[in-house]
Parts: sequence; structure tokens; C-alpha cells
Amino acid sequence: MKTALLLALACVTSSAAFAQESQTTVFEGARLIDGTGKPAIENSVIVVKDDKIVAAGPAAKVKKPKGARIVDVHGRTIMPGIINAHGHVGLVVNGKNSAEGYTRENVEAQLAQYEQYGVTTVMALGLNRDLGYEIRDQQRHTRSLGASLFLAGRGIGVPDAAPPVPVAPDQVYRPQTVEEAVKDVREVATHKPDMLKIWVDDVYGKFPKMDPALYKAVIAEAHKKKIPVAAHVFYLADAKGLVADGIDALAHSIRDQDADAGLISQMKQKGTFYVATLNVDESGYMFAEDPSFLQDPMLVQAVSPEMIKMVQSEEYKNKIRSDPNVPKNKAAGATGMRNLKAMQAGGVRIALGTDSGAQPVRVPGWAEHRELELMVKAGLTPMQALVAATRGSAAMLRASDRGTLEAGKRADFLVLQGNPLEDIRNTRQLVTIYNGGREVKPRATAVAAK
Ligand SMILES: [Zn+2]
Repeated sequence: MKTALLLALACVTSSAAFAQESQTTVFEGARLIDGTGKPAIENSVIVVKDDKIVAAGPAAKVKKPKGARIVDVHGRTIMPGIINAHGHVGLVVNGKNSAEGYTRENVEAQLAQYEQYGVTTVMALGLNRDLGYEIRDQQRHTRSLGASLFLAGRGIGVPDAAPPVPVAPDQVYRPQTVEEAVKDVREVATHKPDMLKIWVDDVYGKFPKMDPALYKAVIAEAHKKKIPVAAHVFYLADAKGLVADGIDALAHSIRDQDADAGLISQMKQKGTFYVATLNVDESGYMFAEDPSFLQDPMLVQAVSPEMIKMVQSEEYKNKIRSDPNVPKNKAAGATGMRNLKAMQAGGVRIALGTDSGAQPVRVPGWAEHRELELMVKAGLTPMQALVAATRGSAAMLRASDRGTLEAGKRADFLVLQGNPLEDIRNTRQLVTIYNGGREVKPRATAVAAK
């Protein structure tokens, strides 16, 4: 009766009722990697209504609603949208770090870029202006364009220390005492951040390091306000102190030595997340040492011409050649890979992060596909890497509405030409991206090898 009435109305007014009806779409025939870690379903049906998944599973089991729009995706693979649990926005403009970069225009352009590369959600892990909250909240209320933004606010470092990135004073807290740090946590809590970021590193001995008493107080105060805390780390000893004090996520690899079984089992038991950011270490030299990266159309379309010019210059190449930190970054990267493998084997919760957007050589959108490749190089199976990048990252962000393709979750997914379980680089073969059911055209795509 109600349907008939709606249809009758639709006939005269032509739009509303039909528009609603046509919002149910069935994606038929794709191989489905649903993000849970269960084996792929070879012939799947996914039913999407508005921004949500109504049903997803084997074609034989999922009922297709009558009158729904059908999208034939036979031969394709569908996986959840990538969730970057450690990125940054508004820090790099035209190939350069800039303290003036955190504007609405730049942040929104970067969110659009992430989305066009299949990164449907990003956690901006520190160095955000308060403007970020405005953009995030608007996005949540109006479903505006771009990757969904999650925020760790400004984040807390100590004076004249990490993070060594040029930002405006309102982009990071620099408390001198425990009391000041607690005050900063109370201030940030008023903005309802999704997380809080702290920096615990001396950057190869260059800076003073945050005192354990300070981070202990920050973690305790943040937890009182129900805000999870992620830490930038490098050293095993710091990781141990942070995990013992209840840190929720290590936002980089442990890179000075191999993590021991004691720490790994403690992290497993406490549910601490581990984000390897393997691309970070190689980003310090990769473009100078291997010019073939600059031939990759996916990369080229993700960076500014200024960035390409910069990394191609003799000046840059000489700087990398003589930089004493480059051999250290290489050793750190290798250690980070071993530790990721050990964390995965030890049952620690893994999320995907890249630190993309922190520097011109950490490329939003491209870095996330590269990170998946590096995670597999480190010894994860493609399925483990994909689960980390989807369900794992969503869990770290406490975003229970996404990360897997199941009934009730957001319709955030990627249609791929190739199967990433066969070759993880196939995540780059983007055909179409859906963000909350909204269709997005990829900016660039890798072509399948013949
Ligand atoms: Zn970072």
C-alpha cells in the first residue's frame, strides 16, 4: 500500500521516490576480500544502499533486492578502502614543508588526493591546526568529499625537539613540565580528538627526548578523558616504557634493535597497536637512488612538479650521498621489517600507516600502496597486509563503522582489476573507488601486466 502510494507520487513528481529506489545497488560477480581475514569469496554479491552495505557474501547466499541497479564486476576484485592510520594533512605545499600550509584549501585537496588513490580514511596523526576539527566535523555532518578525516589534534612534543617539521606554534604543544603537559591534554580534550599523538625520539641523538614522567602523565590524563594515545617511537627501550605505561599505539617501527618476546607478548596482551610506517625509512633516499620511481605514473600524478624537480636535482642527490643518516635509515628500515614480521607472528594488532604528508617525499595516496608492498616484503602474507590496512587500521581508529565489507558497515571499497592476493601491487589497479557509496574516479591506475 505504502509502496503503491510512493510510486503514484513518483509518477507525478518524477523524482524523490525513484531516486530513493535507485539508491540500492548490487555489485555482482567480483572476488570479494572482505577485510576480516576470511578467504576471498570468488563469486560475490554486495548490496549497497545509500552509504552502507546491506549484505555481502557468496552470490548463492545473498538475496538481490528487486529493482536494484546492477553493476557487473565479474573478473574484478573488491576490497575495503585503505585506512591510513598514520598520515598528515596540510604540512606540504608545492613540494615543500610550509608552516602556512594548513589551510582549508590544502587540507581538502589532500583529502581528495587520498580518496582518488583508494585511501578512504586517514588519521592525521598530529600537527593539526584547530581548523582540522572544523573540517572533520563538517565532513561527518554533510558527507562532503574526500577521504574521511580523523584527527589526533596538535600532538605533544617537548621544546626544541621532535617533530622536526616546520609548523606554526598552534600546530603542536611543547610543554616544559608535567603540569603543562596535563593542561595541554585537557585543552585538546575539549575538541574531542579521535586520538592524541606524542613524540618520544631524539632523532639520532639530535634533540632532547621526552621524559618518561611526562608521557606517563599524558597517557594517564588522556585515558581519563577516554582519548587513545599514539606515540612516535624509534628505540626499543622507549617502546617498552610506553607500552608499560599503557600507550594505545606505536606509530612507527621499533628500529634500533629487534623487539624481544617479552615486549611482543605484552603488546598482544594489552592490545597495543603497531604501525610500521616502512616507507618512512626509505623515503629519505629512494628517489635519489632509484630514478625509476619517478617513471611510475601513479607516483608522478600524486606529487607536484616542484617535488620532482627537487629530487632530480644534483644538489639533492649530493645531499643524500653525503648524508650520514642515510646508512642509518637503511639499517633502521631493515630492523623495522624484521620487527613487523615478529609482531605479526606474535599476534600483535597491526595497522597500516605511512606518515604520508609529513614531508614532500612521503606521498599521500601512493605511499599507502607502497607500504602494502613493503609489508609483504617484510614477510606478511598479502592477506595479512590487507587486513592490517583495513580492519586493523579501523580498530586502531575505533571506527567500528568501517574496515570490513559486512552488513551495516560503510560502503567504502575499491574495485580492482587484478587480485592483490596474487601480487600485492595489484591494489594499484584501481578501477573505481566507493567512499560511503559515492563513486570516485581514480586519479591514476596501474595497468595489469599482460
Ligand atoms: Zn607522523
